[in-house]
Amino acid sequence: MDPKNPSQAEAWLRYADDLGLGPYFLDRTLALSASSVVGSVSSVVAPIPAPAGELPAAQAMAAGAAVASSASAAPSPALKRPPIIAPPADGFSLFDERIEDDSLVRIAEDIGPACTRCKLHKARKKIVFGVGNPQAELVFVGEGPGRDEDEQGEPFVGRAGKLLTQMIEAMSLRREDVYIANVVKCRPPENRLPEKDEIATCSPYLMRQLAAIGPKVICCLGSCSAQTLLQTTQGISRFRGEWFDFRGSKLIATYHPAYLLRNPNAKGEVWKDLQKVMAVLGLKPKRR
Ligand code: URA
Repeated sequence: MDPKNPSQAEAWLRYADDLGLGPYFLDRTLALSASSVVGSVSSVVAPIPAPAGELPAAQAMAAGAAVASSASAAPSPALKRPPIIAPPADGFSLFDERIEDDSLVRIAEDIGPACTRCKLHKARKKIVFGVGNPQAELVFVGEGPGRDEDEQGEPFVGRAGKLLTQMIEAMSLRREDVYIANVVKCRPPENRLPEKDEIATCSPYLMRQLAAIGPKVICCLGSCSAQTLLQTTQGISRFRGEWFDFRGSKLIATYHPAYLLRNPNAKGEVWKDLQKVMAVLGLKPKRR
């Protein structure tokens, strides 16, 4: 491989991703920036810089995190941790071709009414496909259905869901204005985290949903969703509130409403993140 040829390096890294070898290349930005390969590869791994006036460093510190590294940053302890690897924006990947004229209806049909592709089908009652405006500018992505969602076939309808609805309304939106989906569409037993194989089987449908909707902003709720879309194993507190590019949409991660039910003190941090989303969407907070 010619280290001076970014497109060749990029092709190799995508090939590694397609083979499931991504984690072995988590230090790729550092390796690539060290060999001065810049351009498309480095541009997909760095968070989008905050506009002037925002205080990413202060926010990241508030979340107990260091600001993510960039190729030009001065060496600091922050550089030692692996960078977040966001998926290629528009690049071709072996298993990632866009489906022409895809739609939510077609995706639901492809999943089918009785999907058995992963082991979650054994205990689920209803497949929870997603709900909301198919042309939404804002999509919330959660982890997976809980007991209430499994019963009703709709995401975020339990206690955490009620809190999410309040958050949406505080942004002066209604639930039906946004789209709400999950990484996995069937309830993990006992509300455990979805497992790797389940995420690998189900998340391609989420990717298709996101591509079909083409939202301006994707808001990941909790680590499962953020780690899946950003292809990272880093804890969410390290990067929540920062902007990333996700295939042409802006992506931000914040804490899951279920976490807020257990830790109400974190509501202020989440509200800061939602205000960033509102600024991008040109929304004003709801008047009381
Ligand atoms: N938690 C989630 O992540 N998704 C839901 O749909 C409900 C609770």
